[in-house]
Amino acid sequence: MNGQTAYKKLVEIAIAITHGEHPLQVDLTCPHCGSAELVYSYTIRELPDEYGFYIICPKCRRGQHFNLSPKPPNFREDLILPEFQRLEDEAMCRGDSSQ
Ligand SMILES: [Zn+2]
Repeated sequence: MNGQTAYKKLVEIAIAITHGEHPLQVDLTCPHCGSAELVYSYTIRELPDEYGFYIICPKCRRGQHFNLSPKPPNFREDLILPEFQRLEDEAMCRGDSSQ
């Protein structure tokens, strides 16, 4: 799978998790390396009604960060992983609002 296709696939997976009807049944296969272990986490950004979403493959270390606003329908506080919230906080501190 080339980079562009893999990126599109990651976006599809992210949307299925954040906005889909069955977020817990989404296929978490990494489009880059095929490992079925994608890890995802919501994050809270220090801005009103802004949330973040990380999806990362622990095997090939590739992934994507999304800014979500308003709050995604499937947002759950118990799906915030501390290590990703820390990444989000560090990005906010740097003023880094890029994707
Ligand atoms: Zn991977």
